[in-house]
Amino acid sequence: MEFRFAAEEEAFRKEVRAFLKEELKPGWQEQFDTESELGAEQQSDFGRQFNKKLAKRRWLTMPWPKEYGGLGASVMQQMIYNEEMAYNGAPTGLNMGVSWVGPSLMIYGTAEQKERFLPAIADHDEIWCTLYSEPGSGSDLASLQTRAVRDGDDWVINGQKIWTSGAHRSDWGWLAARTDPEAPKHKGISMFILPMDTPGITIQPLINMASMHGFNEVFFEDVRIPASYLIGQENNGWYQLAVALDFERSSVAGVARAKRWWEDLVTFAKERRPFVEARPEVRHRLAEIGLEIEAGQNLCYRVASLQRSGKIPNYEASIAKLYSSELGQRLAATGMELLGLYGQLHPKSKYAYLKGRIERYYQISVAETIGGGTSEIMRNIVAMRGLGLPKG
Ligand SMILES: Cc1cc2nc3c(=O)[nH]c(=O)nc-3n(C[C@H](O)[C@H](O)[C@H](O)COP(=O)(O)OP(=O)(O)OC[C@H]3O[C@@H](n4cnc5c(N)ncnc54)[C@H](O)[C@@H]3O)c2cc1C
Repeated sequence: MEFRFAAEEEAFRKEVRAFLKEELKPGWQEQFDTESELGAEQQSDFGRQFNKKLAKRRWLTMPWPKEYGGLGASVMQQMIYNEEMAYNGAPTGLNMGVSWVGPSLMIYGTAEQKERFLPAIADHDEIWCTLYSEPGSGSDLASLQTRAVRDGDDWVINGQKIWTSGAHRSDWGWLAARTDPEAPKHKGISMFILPMDTPGITIQPLINMASMHGFNEVFFEDVRIPASYLIGQENNGWYQLAVALDFERSSVAGVARAKRWWEDLVTFAKERRPFVEARPEVRHRLAEIGLEIEAGQNLCYRVASLQRSGKIPNYEASIAKLYSSELGQRLAATGMELLGLYGQLHPKSKYAYLKGRIERYYQISVAETIGGGTSEIMRNIVAMRGLGLPKG
């Protein structure tokens, strides 16, 4: 692994930092209420304008090839960008259109589909959600049951999806549905796109344990879409799902976010000594977390470094995802310990410290070890592919 960044990578980091300093003036987060809706800041006027500015610089789609509106940026540049955005809490979030819809369309889409959808994603004009998980299919996604049946020039969709992040704010959905129930489970799935306001689609909010609305249940009742909304080959969907693997997979955003929170907690602990004096063991936890952040950062850099040298990270990416998501939870728990009973106060309370963010973080970080693959699944991958242990 190369521990140093190249001069042009350092220069790019400086450029991103300068941009963020200019765009995210102190107090920018206070202009909207993000306490009841996860990701709301991305959809606020401010968030939209911010993302539009990123789009204008082609930073949103920086890994995309130039011909499709990207910059063809290196993996390291992408990682630096993700790190800086997350550290500064920029309202970017996970952009599914950019991360997997666009890249899949580049490979499997028809010329018309590419022309219609790629510019709108690159320009941040249309927002996408991902319709994979179902009540009985999460880790074992290939068991999904939502059906798509061909009827003349249309496909008719029936079934239910769950945990669909941002479905209520999306223009388009990226859907995996079963098209051949007789085939082995991996061989009977196809990919579709569809407007989220198509008749027959019902979106119901799912409120998480922090009382926030981020994901939804989505029901399909005789939803009719044209045949042109099939992506790629019928029944080849499972294999098409894996196409976005070339993208930066370092999980660096989780560690960068944790680093910022940790710095805020350390500053708080220095300024408010009685909190530390009441719980001296928290000093040790903060010191440990500082070390864990260093370790986590290097695990993430290792993944990007592998990608830079043309290798496809496999269990290494699972280690980074596992470590960074669990690190976030350990940090949130340490923050709660440091703040004592104050840690439980809602951000709206005038007595809340650090704007009540630790209370939010503590609750929201629970999801980090589930979304994008659970910790158990990550450990299975590390055990089997990393250590060569037999399947459990
Ligand atoms: C914040 C968040 C956002 C999400 N957004 C989306 C989205 O936009 N679109 C979408 O389609 N989905 C989304 N998901 C769903 C997510 O992909 C699933 O929750 C995840 O894949 C786990 O599936 P599950 O919830 O069905 O749990 P299950 O797979 O049922 O797992 C239940 C428990 O069993 C364990 N387990 C399962 N299989 C194994 C195994 N083989 N070995 C050991 N342990 C196992 C799991 O680790 C877990 O602890 C989101 C989830 C979260 C938390």
